[in-house]
Amino acid sequence: MFGRAPKKSDNTKYYEILGVSKNASQDDLKKAYRKAAIKNHPDKGGDPEKFKELAQAYEVLSDPEKREIYDQYGEDALKEGMGSGGAGGHDPFDIFQSFFGGSPFGGGGSSRGRRQRRGEDVVHPLKVSLEDIYNGTSKKLSLSRNVLCSKCKGKGSKSGASTKCMGCQGSGMKVSIRHLGPSMIQQMQHPCNECKGTGETINDKDRCPQCKGEKVLQEKKVLEVHVEKGMQNGQKITFPGEADEAPDTVTGDIVFVLHQKDHPRFKRKGDDLFVEHTLSLTEALCGFQFILTHLDNRQLLIKSQPGEVVKPDQFKAINDEGMPMYSRPFMRGKLYIHFTVEFPDSMTPEQCKALEAVLPPKPSMQISDMELDECEETTLHDVNMEEEMRRKHQQAQEAYDEDEDMHGGAQRVQCAQQ
Ligand SMILES: [Zn+2]
Ligand SMILES: [Zn+2]
Repeated sequence: MFGRAPKKSDNTKYYEILGVSKNASQDDLKKAYRKAAIKNHPDKGGDPEKFKELAQAYEVLSDPEKREIYDQYGEDALKEGMGSGGAGGHDPFDIFQSFFGGSPFGGGGSSRGRRQRRGEDVVHPLKVSLEDIYNGTSKKLSLSRNVLCSKCKGKGSKSGASTKCMGCQGSGMKVSIRHLGPSMIQQMQHPCNECKGTGETINDKDRCPQCKGEKVLQEKKVLEVHVEKGMQNGQKITFPGEADEAPDTVTGDIVFVLHQKDHPRFKRKGDDLFVEHTLSLTEALCGFQFILTHLDNRQLLIKSQPGEVVKPDQFKAINDEGMPMYSRPFMRGKLYIHFTVEFPDSMTPEQCKALEAVLPPKPSMQISDMELDECEETTLHDVNMEEEMRRKHQQAQEAYDEDEDMHGGAQRVQCAQQ
């Protein structure tokens, strides 16, 4: 006798999946579903099972009739009501698409019989400073876009009627023939210029007065782009369905691509920051401190430990002073400091004496007079290594060319010898 009684817990699962209370309004459900579906969309790396669950929960709860059955009798009652034809197996992608009017994740057109074509995505580069990415910011951008004419709902005519284009017989395409030679022709297909490839024209008298038959109007729109802390160079910020509207077309997305401008002081590698700092030899040996203004204008005091020596080309790092990590902004990378040590160009004998008195003894002191007697003296010259290598390379090239000439005939050898 208990067999048919639905379990008590059975009619709360869908609410839990969407994260709403049992008395949530249709609006609440819609919002909750939109948020969760975007987050769990498999195209974005979400779990397909979870996504399916969400779609199913929303499909039931958004339908007042189904919701009532579910509230009273639970999930099983719905399955029975649907019969055995497998009608319960709604495609979660179809629900998603009917909800958003298109996938917001790019033109991944499914093969599930979508008849509408998808409009193009509009991609804009968005220049941002390193400060913008470190602190997070929002930028208001004014764009103009095509929207379907509200008066004719994108039909272009008052009556909604249109006639077949005479230019292309309604096919939207025209074929032109080019003669390439006496017995060769080339056929080329291109969109009809008279109907702009739509295959239909609107009678002059029937044209919509608002859009003049163009079906769309230009509209100015301000988009607020949120640049979040720690976003990467090249990261995309997408506004689904905000590109140009066109009749019988799923509107494409507006996509902003972040272009991080170079910073005069900080270099960024992933979540880490790098700065260059030059120390005098005295600072490198005897200690230093300096103030570094960070990207949020905080003043960092950077100093050496007592007795610590910094060597030329050495790196040191400060933990948690790098870039905030995207979507985990409370975590931060490292701040690396690359040290250059400036040596004096020359020293007086007095300076040398003073230094020798405190620095470790020179090993060259230990060469005996007898050893010195047996040595040949040499002179060290300054060299510019880059210049030196360039000259070596050039010499090698000339030798190669000469070698080529030897095999290249007597005339060229003569020229080379002149
Ligand atoms: Zn035409
Ligand atoms: Zn119109």
